[in-house]
Amino acid sequence: MKKKIIILGVIILNSTLGIFMLPSNHSKVIDPQETISPSLTANSTTNSTTNSTTNKTGNNAADESKGQNKSEFAADRDGESIDFDAKRAMEYLQKLCQIGTRISGSEGMKKQRELLKAHFEKYGAKVTFQEFEAKQKSRPDKVKLANMIIQWFPDQKRRILFCGHYDTRPIAHEERNHKDWSKPFISANDGTSTVAFFMELAHHMKKLKIKIGIDFVLFDAEEYVFEKERDKYFLGSEYFAQDYRKNKPEYVYAAGVLLDLFAHKNPRFPVEGHSWESAARIVQGIWQEASLQKVKAFVAVEGQPIQDDHIALNRVGIPTIDIIDFDYKHWHKLSDLPEQCSGETMKDVANVLLEWVKKVGN
Ligand SMILES: [Zn+2]
Repeated sequence: MKKKIIILGVIILNSTLGIFMLPSNHSKVIDPQETISPSLTANSTTNSTTNSTTNKTGNNAADESKGQNKSEFAADRDGESIDFDAKRAMEYLQKLCQIGTRISGSEGMKKQRELLKAHFEKYGAKVTFQEFEAKQKSRPDKVKLANMIIQWFPDQKRRILFCGHYDTRPIAHEERNHKDWSKPFISANDGTSTVAFFMELAHHMKKLKIKIGIDFVLFDAEEYVFEKERDKYFLGSEYFAQDYRKNKPEYVYAAGVLLDLFAHKNPRFPVEGHSWESAARIVQGIWQEASLQKVKAFVAVEGQPIQDDHIALNRVGIPTIDIIDFDYKHWHKLSDLPEQCSGETMKDVANVLLEWVKKVGN
């Protein structure tokens, strides 16, 4: 993603009441008595704006968690809980990184696509590629690109979109020494961890008892960027969003969740600014689920708005949040390697997202 620093303010999640509060310089009004259903009705997915005076309150699900620890929480859901395999998720991450760089249009990307198609089809997904071409400003020629769409329960007309990018950046721009910029950049947590996360989730998707469909969408060319100030980011998500708007599919995305820079050890996910602005209801549902499960990485503090793949989706009416720790210190450095990542982090995030999916998808 692209860096943009503006600090908007602070959201406080009252962990006892599970209520989101904004500081007084925001115009949002809090009504602690009002509760919301976690379901994503058409109305509930309507975008909100920071200028809105609509009350923003959460349900009081966190109340139910009083006295519960994490294992008791899991025990409550016996028979339904998903046993995300943290070790296997890390093995998938290693396997992807062993391909080497996976720059858009490259041989590495082609290899990755073949591996992923075989993997997701093996576990019962419907896999399609959305192919297109684009010309990056700094490049002499067009490049062939493809977003990868992995569908679970493809007959469902109401769907949730989980997404990330699967290209690796051609240049490690945050390395101090310019000589290091062109060394192979593996990008373990930047994009790749999302792909590995989806690969592990593939083992469990068919077992979910839900009445909605789920798509994993992997965007190409999120950062096919050679010259930072000149080249365009987000080629894949922008194409995907425009196609969704123009060629209306027969299904609708009720919600979207973007995962980026999320799988390292001890991450911290403040509420990304655009997510709060465009999809507050989804933020509330997920951060409250995290609070209930005592997953501390999700902190109910409003972070900086970040330019990322969710912007294009929100623009075409898919309310999408970004789960991201932009303080990841290996960002765009050669040290963004698998050893920075954690299967346990992925497992925590999976448990939060899948419980949220069960709540909104039934
Ligand atoms: Zn990146």
